[in-house]
Amino acid sequence: MPTASFTVAIDGPAAAGKGTISKGVAARFGLAHLDTGLLYRAVGRRTLDGVDSVTAAQSLTAEELEQGDLRTADVAQAASKVAVIPEVRSALVDFQRAFARRAGGAVLDGRDIGTVICPHAEVKLFVTASPEVRAERRYLELNAKGADVTREQVLADVRERDSRDAARSAAPMKAADDAVLLDTSDLSIDDALAQAIAVVQKKLPVAD
Ligand code: C5P
Repeated sequence: MPTASFTVAIDGPAAAGKGTISKGVAARFGLAHLDTGLLYRAVGRRTLDGVDSVTAAQSLTAEELEQGDLRTADVAQAASKVAVIPEVRSALVDFQRAFARRAGGAVLDGRDIGTVICPHAEVKLFVTASPEVRAERRYLELNAKGADVTREQVLADVRERDSRDAARSAAPMKAADDAVLLDTSDLSIDDALAQAIAVVQKKLPVAD
């Protein structure tokens, strides 16, 4: 386990496997993990209740990240809408950077971690998969939770969010120049995690 700050930045589109890979990498190396999508989801959630997005971002509390209803399709869309607003993004920067610098190291996953939040991260991964594969995974996930959705709706949703996230001018989703690309379309989750772990392992500080 690294003792000084050691940051792993994992970016990529929805349902590419970032969450599972991030949790697995964090567990393997004893690092703290922050799913930064939850910050945007919590802000998006409040806008659905009529709260102004910038006010919601500026007053976000840790408790709001623990709410059980942040993983719905409506909240995901609301999150990607508030995520285009530069004032919303800037209100969330300090929290993410402080988390990234914590002693013992951290894994952050999101869309702009390697490019904007932690451009000096020791490890950068960009995890992706085809829209069809990602939509199928998300469909199975939502379906298992009893959500009333069709495959077509989920694919349309994934495509809409991808294009909004990639086209926005504030911190668009993109791979950092020095990120390692990991396409999980044809990989099992175990293989994807093993590849991510191998990338991190190579960059770990060597004890002397
Ligand atoms: O990762 P997740 O699907 O939970 O993210 C929800 C939305 O939050 C994304 O579609 C994206 O618009 C936004 N987001 C972002 N930057 C991040 C993490 C998430 O813009 N670092």
